[in-house]
Amino acid sequence: MDDLLKNLNEPQRLAVTTTEGPVLVIAGAGSGKTRAITYRVAYLIGAKRIPPRNILAVTFTNKAAEEMRNRIYKLLGVTELESWIGTFHATCARLLRREADRLGFTRDFAIYDESDQLLLIKHCMKKLSLPEREYNPHAILSRISLAKNKMLFPDAFREKAGDDFEATVGNIYKLYAEALRENNAMDFDDLLCNALLLLLQYPECSEKYRSFFRYVLVDEFQDTNRVQYELVRELAREHHNLCVVGDDDQSIYSWRGANVDNLFDLQKEFPEATVVFLEENYRSTQSILDAANAVIANNSKRKPKKLWTKNDRGKNVMWCSAPDEHSEARRIIGEIRRLRQENPEMGNSDFAVFYRTNAQSRVLEDEFRAAGITYVIVGNVRFYDRKEIKDTLAYLRVLANPADSVSLRRIINVPPRGIGKTTLERVGEFASDRRTALLEALGHASEIPQLRADARQSLLKFHEYISRLIRQKNDLSAADLVREVINTSGYAEMLTQDPSFEAQARIENLAELVSAAAETGEKLNDFSLDAFLQSVSLQSDVDGWDERMDAVTLMTLHMAKGLEFTAVFMAGMEEGLLPHANALLSEKSLEEERRLCYVGITRARKHLVFTSADVRRIRGEIEVNEPSRFLAEIPDELMDAEESVPDSRLVRDEHYQEMPDYEDGFRVGDIIEHSTFGTGVINTVSGSGESAKVGVRFYRDNKQRDIVVKYASLKRR
Ligand code: ATP
Ligand code: MG
Repeated sequence: MDDLLKNLNEPQRLAVTTTEGPVLVIAGAGSGKTRAITYRVAYLIGAKRIPPRNILAVTFTNKAAEEMRNRIYKLLGVTELESWIGTFHATCARLLRREADRLGFTRDFAIYDESDQLLLIKHCMKKLSLPEREYNPHAILSRISLAKNKMLFPDAFREKAGDDFEATVGNIYKLYAEALRENNAMDFDDLLCNALLLLLQYPECSEKYRSFFRYVLVDEFQDTNRVQYELVRELAREHHNLCVVGDDDQSIYSWRGANVDNLFDLQKEFPEATVVFLEENYRSTQSILDAANAVIANNSKRKPKKLWTKNDRGKNVMWCSAPDEHSEARRIIGEIRRLRQENPEMGNSDFAVFYRTNAQSRVLEDEFRAAGITYVIVGNVRFYDRKEIKDTLAYLRVLANPADSVSLRRIINVPPRGIGKTTLERVGEFASDRRTALLEALGHASEIPQLRADARQSLLKFHEYISRLIRQKNDLSAADLVREVINTSGYAEMLTQDPSFEAQARIENLAELVSAAAETGEKLNDFSLDAFLQSVSLQSDVDGWDERMDAVTLMTLHMAKGLEFTAVFMAGMEEGLLPHANALLSEKSLEEERRLCYVGITRARKHLVFTSADVRRIRGEIEVNEPSRFLAEIPDELMDAEESVPDSRLVRDEHYQEMPDYEDGFRVGDIIEHSTFGTGVINTVSGSGESAKVGVRFYRDNKQRDIVVKYASLKRR
């Protein structure tokens, strides 16, 4: 156990060994907060002989929980422990599995995810005869979720309702809560709320868990919401054996109800707490740390912190600006290759690329795939697997192939247009009786028996809509068709009505699909819908990567919390992306964007590269963005700025025409045409003259082939 303490600095040791009474660790990034929590659990078990099951340790993600568990096993030299290490949601679910009957649920209650929740909301709205056209189920759901996060239950919510909309939400909320009960189900918010209710309403239960969880530890406390705060407070109410760690500079989830004040409120709640400050950073080079400090110093509402390191100064941080987002992505790839060459010990998994919006991953994915570099996207679905993208592609598939009933079924009532399951069943029967395609059957709705008049009307209207698009499809480019579908199908409208963060992200993803269609047209010199759909199908076929492979990590900044990588790229360092356009108007949200930037910077151990694009497609339009203000906050002597040379694989567009053309032989990134293998992209170039060789990854089968230039008649596209 002495060995264990040897690996800690003085203040960390204090946080670990002060096992009785409250301990509050407030400290900057990479200062060993998570390490302190981890060692504290090990110390409680190893030195204080506390049974593992009596310790509750809460982490921010499941992955963090797993890592903590493994570290503790290693520290203690064991392979298994009956421990309570997990996220708030996982912990509450576990607790409720034991106690659910007190609240009128059985122990095998279901946990509903978002799609289940939406079905249920719609069901309730139907009962109340509320048309989905007027009340967006997504919007209703986020309203209810926010209420739950404040422990505002249906009756209280209805009493407080300020206007008609709120009153309606209140009515739906009431039915929704009843329906959950009828289904013996809880949604994600319920897991937290019900666990808290259990403690507040059943003193004997509260007593039981207060004495069971004799030690409570929470990581990343700056991003807890009110219910989570109350849970912690209740559990530690008597014994006060609480250790909470956090960094107010890293609070980045306020849009989801997190409240950084929790960190300081807790200090007031437990005034006797031992407050520990950690100031030594073990993660990053001095340059990276200086850059991080310089940026965060611009936030006015913060408690100043000292953060220093014994680590080397290291290299300056780097900023590469590229002409456009594809060059930006290729610049990142080039830099990864260069760093790997210079540092042979580095593998792909030492690299991470962070971005602000999910939509940015599309171009990165395309380029990584083309370059044959293995990557993993952490925490979100791949671009073409996202629901909104799949839905929109389903529309396009119906236009391309009116017989595609599977795609038609997918979107016939998305967004909702009053074509329910029964109606669809009857149309289906009619279609199979007549041996016609489903789409055609819609046009004969007036002949279909047993349909309600309004359903019949909806079917005819939808048939007319799709038919109109089909008539237009040959006159419009794929990009225009994508835009048309998004705007006229009601899909965009459905999302705009929903104020939630997710809906906002979905809108951005759809805009990115317009960009993808435009680019594919330019790349293939074929702007037709068929060409686009074909290229998309190929793309989703080639997800050849294996998660166990050595892969570069791609993730949003929000997902990067708590992690560290030897080399970090922060892409899209532009006004409008970071800080995000939505945050530009208020100082408060601007400061949260700056914290997000700080979180990104402080993930890097040795290498940090910012990248930006002079122009990029956003929502299908070419936009010229200024470099992020956060870059200007980093002193010149800490940062090397480099403009990258425009390469030959630029999107052909009037905005790019002044760019110089580089036609001196084949270059990495060139798209070429091979007489046998078809189109592909060059990702290695070697030798010269007679022996010049290029490595090409071909789109058709995603295979990498070495080609001797002399013997192949390669054409550049
Ligand atoms: P973040 O704010 O990003 O969550 P953190 O404060 O939780 O960071 P840790 O992740 O615990 O910091 O530690 C950062 C790195 O420094 C880790 O690689 C950790 O192993 C190392 N480290 C922390 N404390 C020490 C120490 N006393 N001696 C050596 N290495 C340490
Ligand atoms: Mg941490």
